[in-house]
Amino acid sequence: MSLSREQMLVEMGISPIWVLRESEPPVAEPVAAPLAVAAAEQPASAPPLPQPVAAQPAAPAAAPGMADIDALDWPELAKRVAACQACPLCQQRKQAVFGVGDLHPDWLFIGEGPGADEDAQGEPFVGQAGKLLDNMLAALDIARGNKVYIGNAVKCRPPGNRTPEASELAACRPYLERQIALLKPKIIVLLGKVAVHSVLNDDKSLASLRGKRFEYAGIPVVVTYHPAYLLRNLPDKAKAWEDLLFARRVLREAASPELPF
Ligand code: URA
Ligand code: SF4
Repeated sequence: MSLSREQMLVEMGISPIWVLRESEPPVAEPVAAPLAVAAAEQPASAPPLPQPVAAQPAAPAAAPGMADIDALDWPELAKRVAACQACPLCQQRKQAVFGVGDLHPDWLFIGEGPGADEDAQGEPFVGQAGKLLDNMLAALDIARGNKVYIGNAVKCRPPGNRTPEASELAACRPYLERQIALLKPKIIVLLGKVAVHSVLNDDKSLASLRGKRFEYAGIPVVVTYHPAYLLRNLPDKAKAWEDLLFARRVLREAASPELPF
């Protein structure tokens, strides 16, 4: 890592004012109030989603279904994903992309699904969007693999990088749920609308969800823009940086709730 933190911030198009802002007391951040809203909007435990494999009555000889996923350990889960044929995205993938990083992370970042580079290399966020994500992490003084895990809402590349269908998100969701249960991150950052749809089951605009603290299975959840969107909308990088600073405050608060910071 040759760039300094300052250079990272410059690269992200972020003025140092964002760094200064972080040291201010977080008075204006609506942590508590929106939590109540979010909690009211969001059932404490995720609603059961239709599971296409189980729903198909025939196909007794199919690959193991989704029913026992909750019992799988990490290596078994990875194997199951690698062989998964539970939705049509299995047909054109080169490989399923399980995720990468620290298995005891503070941070879990969840994107949409593999693109061409990820499909080829088997690792999430290795293309242009991934570079930006890495720079965002570096600006937070964290790095891929060090207290960070990176995954996706769907594990297989949608053809032509189209948005995954709701049915594909639902089919893949048990894997993500199990990953979260095993990883036990201290904070989840949802990158873009598709990840929000999958984890929070919420279809509202990203702009309306930013800056709020949601919860999934007792874990704080924060929403920000997808790095690929940021590459097309450079001025919004500063908003993403704001979101990440907010996420870091939420993480610190979750780690030591009694301490002001
Ligand atoms: N976009 C995503 O959402 N995930 C990746 O892994 C790569 C690009
Ligand atoms: Fe299975 Fe998910 Fe790949 Fe669909 S996207 S085939 S559910 S691993």
